[in-house]
Amino acid sequence: MEEEIIIKNLQQILEQIKGYAITAGRNPEEIKLCAVSKFHPVEAVYSAMKANQMLFGENRVQEAYSKFTEINEDEEIVIKPELHIIGSLQTNKVKKAVEISSCIESVDRKELLDEIEKQCSRLNKNIRVLFELHTGEDSKSGYESYDILKESVALCAQGKYPHIIADGFMTMAPFTENEETIRNSFQTLRNTAEKLRSEFPSLPLKELSMGMSNDYKIAIQEGSTIVRIGTAIFGEREYPIKISEEL
Ligand SMILES: *Cc1c(COP(=O)(O)O)cnc(C)c1O
Repeated sequence: MEEEIIIKNLQQILEQIKGYAITAGRNPEEIKLCAVSKFHPVEAVYSAMKANQMLFGENRVQEAYSKFTEINEDEEIVIKPELHIIGSLQTNKVKKAVEISSCIESVDRKELLDEIEKQCSRLNKNIRVLFELHTGEDSKSGYESYDILKESVALCAQGKYPHIIADGFMTMAPFTENEETIRNSFQTLRNTAEKLRSEFPSLPLKELSMGMSNDYKIAIQEGSTIVRIGTAIFGEREYPIKISEEL
């Protein structure tokens, strides 16, 4: 997509986020926009950066790694963008994921925490994670139950993962036109977060990553602090731009 269009889309979405926040009685500064650049070429990321967008989301590590190492090695880019990994993560991809990202939003099992800790301690790097909760989306991603999720959060609170900052929660709403279904999903995440914050007051657990191109208004009404928006910024994705080994 052309650069001017990406820039215009970004400006419009930021305005909308602000409007939705104010209408919901919230401070717009509490809400971060994560621009989801998956399946779009690195040029699209450069275009968004021209509009001062500095937070990106990618769901496939291989693709993210090639795009974001290119940007990180680009000497003309002085201030580097921040990358969140938002897609379900295989254990053998954790090493690369940890190298290139500041936050893994899609933690969905204890084994992943073990591996993230191992790789971070090798790199001597701290990383933020969000726990993904399955709240009804058609795919199976995310923790299936509150109890299993709580076990993972408890391990963080016990200090088992010194390089991991347990920063909050993420979910994907079901893909539907039904607003109530979507709202229920976001409310489930918020209620879960509230319960776990009071169980584990020593952990930050502050972020609620929820809301995508077609439902971020509802997500903001329900307390989202990170909206992950792809299509509304970069246009429709072309599947696949690259057949990677992850498919
Ligand atoms: C692709 C994706 C998004 C962005 O979806 P859009 O509908 O294009 O805004 C957000 N979150 C996750 C986890 C994704 O995989």
